[in-house]
Parts: sequence; structure tokens; C-alpha cells
Amino acid sequence: MPRICPSCDGEVPQRTTGRPATYCSTACRQAAHRAKARARTAIERAAEARAGAARDIEHALAVLHQARDALAVPLPAGQAGHGRHRRRRW
Ligand SMILES: [Zn+2]
Repeated sequence: MPRICPSCDGEVPQRTTGRPATYCSTACRQAAHRAKARARTAIERAAEARAGAARDIEHALAVLHQARDALAVPLPAGQAGHGRHRRRRW
């Protein structure tokens, strides 16, 4: 049964010696390696982006909590406003 090239689905020529070829040609082997390298780079970039996004979210939450805590502090007497809502519920 002939091997099928994973790159172009073509038939891989049988070798008489050595390890059986995976790809039908050098071009297909190189294309597959380039695709694999691109995929690896994309995965690494996605992981970095996700880590960065997680850090951003942590930072934003910290800022949000600080802001909420600051707004929750009662205003000094005499500056409490006139029935205006100074406390926000987030
Ligand atoms: Zn091929």
C-alpha cells in the first residue's frame, strides 16, 4: 500500500533503501516544516497574548477595586451633598 504525502495527498514514491519517505518531494517536506513552524509561532504568540490579557484583566480588576473602595469611603461631614448619591454599587 503506497504512502500518502501529508502535504499534498499525493502518492509517496517507494524507496528501495533507507527509511521510507514521508513526503513525496523535498518541496512538500519543506512546505510541511514551514507550516509546522508557523503553527508553533502562532501558538506561542497566542499564549503570550493570553498571558498578557490575563495580566491586563488582573490590573484592571485591581484598579476597579481600588476605585470602588475609594468611592465607598464616606465623604467628610459637611460635604455629603444634598441627597445626591455618592456611593456607587458595582
Ligand atoms: Zn507531496
